[in-house]
Amino acid sequence: MNEISKKLMCVSVRNGVELWFEKDEIEKLQQVLSNIRQSTFVHFGERTINTADIVGIFLADDMGDVTNRKNGKWRCDQNFWHEKGKECDCIDKEQRAKILRQSEAIAKCGKCNNGHVFTDTGATLCDCIKDI
Ligand SMILES: [Zn+2]
Ligand SMILES: [Zn+2]
Repeated sequence: MNEISKKLMCVSVRNGVELWFEKDEIEKLQQVLSNIRQSTFVHFGERTINTADIVGIFLADDMGDVTNRKNGKWRCDQNFWHEKGKECDCIDKEQRAKILRQSEAIAKCGKCNNGHVFTDTGATLCDCIKDI
């Protein structure tokens, strides 16, 4: 993300329109919105917006999520976006090796359920993988 898009924020309007403004301007709008008690029309730059139609004010990052999903990207357990159809490669080799060692240890152990031991108070990590 470049410097310019960082400073932009998005006013999302009910009809699906996304209005992008500089953070400074957004702060002015937020000021207005926090001072009104009922929906009204606000003049904002060249636009007039019915405040009742404002879904929210979002950061570029938030809107990025929406855009990513629209483009078929998916977010993995590590919180990274991956291209449609691509597999997650976030877990590095070291972690992969660790997972492998753990599953070997679990297989040898035979006493736990996937590295967990269940007691009356809940599940605890089995000794077999504690030090891995
Ligand atoms: Zn990933
Ligand atoms: Zn075990």
